[in-house]
Amino acid sequence: MQCLWCGAEFQARSTGGSRQRFCQPRHRVAFHTLARRWAEAMVESGTVTTAEMRAIVRRGNAALPPVRLAPLATPAASEGETAPQSSVHAVR
Ligand SMILES: [Zn+2]
Repeated sequence: MQCLWCGAEFQARSTGGSRQRFCQPRHRVAFHTLARRWAEAMVESGTVTTAEMRAIVRRGNAALPPVRLAPLATPAASEGETAPQSSVHAVR
């Protein structure tokens, strides 16, 4: 498995439960914190509506609209947090 947050390879537990996507609980929390703030920024900037977000989630991530992600560079989305795939080591 590859951690969704830091990209590190890790051994997912084999005891069942929900699918493990992060190498440690902190990375799951960091991801969800960032995801929530990202979603809020997207809605507040008018890039996407909550109705569209619901539709996207319902269809699955293959249906994400790539063309509408451009406004991500707005100040609201860049408060010192980095995307998971860029600077990985800063995460504590
Ligand atoms: Zn990780």
